[in-house]
Amino acid sequence: SPHLGVLALQGAFREHRLRLEILGARVREVRLPADLEGLQGLVLPGGESTTIAGLMTAAGLWDPIRAFHAAGGALWGSCAGLILLAREVEGAPPQFGRQDRLALLDATARRNAFGRQADSFRVPLQIRGLDAPFPAVFIRAPVIERPGPSVEVLAEYGGRAVLVRQGRLLACAFHPELTADARLHELFLRLVAAPVPT
Ligand code: GLN
Repeated sequence: SPHLGVLALQGAFREHRLRLEILGARVREVRLPADLEGLQGLVLPGGESTTIAGLMTAAGLWDPIRAFHAAGGALWGSCAGLILLAREVEGAPPQFGRQDRLALLDATARRNAFGRQADSFRVPLQIRGLDAPFPAVFIRAPVIERPGPSVEVLAEYGGRAVLVRQGRLLACAFHPELTADARLHELFLRLVAAPVPT
């Protein structure tokens, strides 16, 4: 079975861990660079991206996660995790510095893109490759703008990209760990199992 990590600094990491374990993965909570050793994939959970970024700086995790991905490790960012993966971030407060992103996903994340009126909502989302709609929970969610040529948009909501794939990166604006539907976790497990391109 694959050995995966969930970044366990803040946010919904326990829910991701439980879901992946139910699907048969071994899961380690990642708090320090050494925790990445031997893993094949890492989930960056939803939560509060400025908080997670600050804790990542304190733990010295930015370059180790970049190196983990460069060495073939799959990454999945949901919501705040998506923001951390993006090359550019918009709608961020000034204290969210330029250094506070992995810049691995060739796209811009726009934070809190659905505004106050729709702070949090659930919609049946049509996802490329899935037969039935996915119950997507959005909580102060970002959207993905200006996806580069290597970024495949797998789902849109209101004409805005909310699920993308780029090689061994998966990023979604919603919280698949908060519903009983396991299909996105299964998709990530398939990405983890896919041969590493050389
Ligand atoms: N709005 C949050 C942020 O910008 C993300 C919300 C979430 O992960 N549910 O970090």
